[in-house]
Amino acid sequence: MEHSGPIVVAPAEMSSISFCVLGSGSGGNCTVLKVDEELFLIDAGLSIKQTRLRMEAVGLSIHNVRGLFVTHMDRDHFGTSWPGHVQRMGLKVHVGPSHMDTACRFGVPTSLLEIAGESPETRTGMSVRRIDVAHDDSGCSAFIFEHEDCRLGWATDLGHVPDHLLEAFVDLDALAFESNYDRDMQEASGRPAFLKERIMGGRGHLSNRESLAAIRTIDAGSRLQHIVLLHLSRQCNCPDRVHSLWKDHGGDMADRITITNQHAPTPMLHVTPVANTLFTP
Ligand SMILES: [Zn+2]
Repeated sequence: MEHSGPIVVAPAEMSSISFCVLGSGSGGNCTVLKVDEELFLIDAGLSIKQTRLRMEAVGLSIHNVRGLFVTHMDRDHFGTSWPGHVQRMGLKVHVGPSHMDTACRFGVPTSLLEIAGESPETRTGMSVRRIDVAHDDSGCSAFIFEHEDCRLGWATDLGHVPDHLLEAFVDLDALAFESNYDRDMQEASGRPAFLKERIMGGRGHLSNRESLAAIRTIDAGSRLQHIVLLHLSRQCNCPDRVHSLWKDHGGDMADRITITNQHAPTPMLHVTPVANTLFTP
């Protein structure tokens, strides 16, 4: 029998990049990124204790974390207990230039601060590209982590999807992207008008539909093995609504989504290098 198309032959343990979202939402965002055998965190918005416990639940130790990549300095992305921990452990904290002052003010020593995306990560050689996006006053950083032909795109807390982000988010193997609110639920919520405007006005968060539309564009120029939806609003979103939106409008992408939640980690998601994908005639 003849086969055509890609046959993935690499076992999961050969992935050069794996990741596990420990928790995501306005109550705290934190993801473990595993590159070769080294561990990093993308955002550190859970308490040290919760981070430790959730890492242990997926068989990892917080003591093996080698550095942090922080999208922005809101407390749900960089919690109050982390400056002390990074200082004790001597962890590098990679942030965008517009967040350096705040990180210092929060107590991260200057010697441990690095501008994200200026140079490859030193332990792994992983390259990191930073893309600045609008969010509240000081913006937010989206990232592309690339190692051994694996490219993972990361974007959360973006008020809208700018063209320069879509231009950068091509040739990705996996994507984590904000899907914050259901518009009907947001409009029907008892939230004050100024808050709705802050969230929906282009510098706050992305709706489920905005997120789906952007991911459709990104998927067309990529080979996404995983589509991970981040930062669902507790008050104005619901995983069932997200599932049915994707089922009705996401085509085959619906089979690749993982919806994150605030209280429990996702499975460890392995990104398989393209070089280990065989094509047969
Ligand atoms: Zn946030």
